[in-house]
Amino acid sequence: MAISTDQMTMELKKIKASIGNEGLALEQFSDPINHQRLISALQTTINLDELLPIFSAELSNSVAHSGFTFEHDEVGVNIQHGQRTNHTCEYTLAIENTSLGKMTFMRRQRFSEGELKLIENHLSALLYPLRNTLLYLQAVQSAHTDPLTGVLNRSTLQSVFQKEMALSKRHHADLTLLMLDIDSFKKVNDTYGHVMGDKALIALTQCIKETARESDHIFRLGGEEFAILLSSTDLEGANLLAERLRKAVQNIDIQQAEKSFNFTVSIGLAQQQAEDTLEAIMHRADRALYEAKKTGRNRVVSA
Ligand code: GH3
Ligand code: MG
Ligand code: MG
Repeated sequence: MAISTDQMTMELKKIKASIGNEGLALEQFSDPINHQRLISALQTTINLDELLPIFSAELSNSVAHSGFTFEHDEVGVNIQHGQRTNHTCEYTLAIENTSLGKMTFMRRQRFSEGELKLIENHLSALLYPLRNTLLYLQAVQSAHTDPLTGVLNRSTLQSVFQKEMALSKRHHADLTLLMLDIDSFKKVNDTYGHVMGDKALIALTQCIKETARESDHIFRLGGEEFAILLSSTDLEGANLLAERLRKAVQNIDIQQAEKSFNFTVSIGLAQQQAEDTLEAIMHRADRALYEAKKTGRNRVVSA
């Protein structure tokens, strides 16, 4: 039951729809023509960013609302659309045991019982299209993710670089590329085994995540080579971060039975110049990395 309170909020309300409820909801729907139109509208896209606003627009014909939020932690989605206001009604969406996230509708006046019923009827039509868009989103995400470390893979670098390049131009901000390679990693694998090598790659990724900012993009380019795109960062700032990272990596202990081992990384840095292409900036960072290797490893070199 939804409970109206004297405070300016609506209590949490959950629906858990299961397969089979859709037919039931269809029968209950007071306006079958509108319901059919809603179903058709929801079939026009596979993108979550489009599906939810379409749903909200269709719902507005029956239940006025100022906006909505949608959250799905597992898929890493948090969308807000329209205006955040003080009366809310909140739904946990699921099909059988599959969580489809949490959707909250907002407006200035309380929602009536009749309106809540209408929202629920509309939501029953959203469940299956929502499940399909979430599956699609997860497939896209996994195509862009390195399975061992969970960071982005090489195929994503070009599109992220282009976006960041456009942003940095618009805001007159700096952008720096950091390239990192584990030193003598072949020896690590030869001495401790491939499983321990993988453990080192995972620990390194964790260390990079802890050292970099939330807004930085981390890529595993392949093997034991990583790239980090540092937004709003010039060469000087990048150098500070790279030194911090280099020292932090030295302190990672990889446990193997009773013993442990350490490893080091070499880092090359290049700052974005006007009209840079990804190839050009990568080439400069790569040359700096090569210089770091040549001059003794466990070093940071700026292009
Ligand atoms: P350098 O300091 O010059 O970079 O030497 P290196 O030994 O790190 O470089 P090299 O390119 O000779 O060897 C890279 C090694 O990385 C070879 C391979 O055994 C290891 N490697 C690549 N990918 C993986 C992986 O996914 N897991 C593990 N465990 N090892 C990997
Ligand atoms: Mg190496
Ligand atoms: Mg390498």
